[in-house]
Amino acid sequence: DAYLGAIDAANGKLNAYVAVTADKAREMAKASDQRIAAGEARALEGVPVGVKDLFATEGVHTQACSHILDGFKPRYESTVTANLWNDGAVMLGKLNMDEFAMGSSNETSYYGPVINPWRAKDSERDLVPGGSSGGSAAAVAAWLCAGATATDTGGSIRQPAAFTATVGIKPTYGRCSRWGTVAFASSLDQAGPITRDVRDAAIMLKSMASVDLKDTTSVDVPVPDYEAALGQSIKGLKIGIPKEYRVDGMPAEIEALWQKGIDWMRDAGAEIVDISLPHTKYALATYYIVAPAEASSNLARYDGVRYGLRVPGKDITEMYENTRAEGFGREVQRRIMIGTYVLSAGYYDAYYLRAQKVRSLIKRDFDLAFEAGVDAILTPATPSAAFGIADENLANDPVKMYLNDIFTVTVNMAGLPGMTVPAGLDSNGLPLGLQLIGRPFDEETLFRAAHVIE
Ligand code: GLN
Repeated sequence: DAYLGAIDAANGKLNAYVAVTADKAREMAKASDQRIAAGEARALEGVPVGVKDLFATEGVHTQACSHILDGFKPRYESTVTANLWNDGAVMLGKLNMDEFAMGSSNETSYYGPVINPWRAKDSERDLVPGGSSGGSAAAVAAWLCAGATATDTGGSIRQPAAFTATVGIKPTYGRCSRWGTVAFASSLDQAGPITRDVRDAAIMLKSMASVDLKDTTSVDVPVPDYEAALGQSIKGLKIGIPKEYRVDGMPAEIEALWQKGIDWMRDAGAEIVDISLPHTKYALATYYIVAPAEASSNLARYDGVRYGLRVPGKDITEMYENTRAEGFGREVQRRIMIGTYVLSAGYYDAYYLRAQKVRSLIKRDFDLAFEAGVDAILTPATPSAAFGIADENLANDPVKMYLNDIFTVTVNMAGLPGMTVPAGLDSNGLPLGLQLIGRPFDEETLFRAAHVIE
């Protein structure tokens, strides 16, 4: 009731929820009460969570915040959310996001932008919460849920977490099942939690993660007790500092924050080593070929026949065209066009195939660093703090918007776990985050190190 009341009071302004499932929440909470009374509480018994609109929730609004999925209510539940309900969590509703998870500011949502609960000192200006999991981050930051599910294809968990002083972890590719999560770029998409602190992230990820026969890319490795890693010493841990992340034009405050993080790690007994990830400079260009290519293929299913919106035309071709023209927003249309272009017969070798090769090199950079004994890598999470809604520099310049993902996309390209932890405020009083990157399936080391920063 407290959370539902908070949503009632704040959502009109923040626009973090696109659907509130109050009746369901009360019903689930009642069942949790009974479990608790009977001494049968499960790991997340009664914990109220919000769900990114990308996760299929049975009988409940699931539209990836797109017009083209109008009225879609799946008859099945995603594996990740099913895992949460099986552990006793309570669903509060569906959270706003960039349309089909394409964006870095939550401004591409069909349901309008999410407002960041944070504001700069002495400023009335509304800021973005980051994206694409902007609703998840804003809801957690504003106490509109205790934790939220999110997804990350190129930074969509880590960047919004950094913009809202929350914790976000994108686990290793294959750690969480993608079944029932609306596909954006299947080889990059991973689910993970956004929470208020590192401990909550550890508890929630343990519940979300599982091997799943319905997703052949989920991996059959034991899910450790992440919470047990918290508080363990990081003495002797080798933390790599990649020189290529000192990008041109990086604000001094971000640089200073990074140095602070390095000092914290060193003071806690970690060994700091300089490393090189030489192919970093190609990461954004490569990501913005691979991700749209996969997206254009995944989004072909929205044709006005099988799901959601249908806009009639004089024949079936015109019906497809009308439905897609009206149903997809501008950014999604842009991605489909880039994707089909780089996959087309004349350009496949020059763009898509080449991008896949560069992707292997990016992954190899990380492999070599880990082979040389590095346990985790520390970088800034974002090149700036949260920016304004409809920022005049960004709104009409998609490439500038893409630059936001400069520190996060490499992690998805390499399939590695990455985590954002709040690390302080800038001179305007806005949150900044640090990112930790780990070896495949070694989220535990990230939790251990993140606990030192927080
Ligand atoms: N901002 C990136 C994009 O627009 C990443 C999005 C994501 O991780 N879902 O593609």
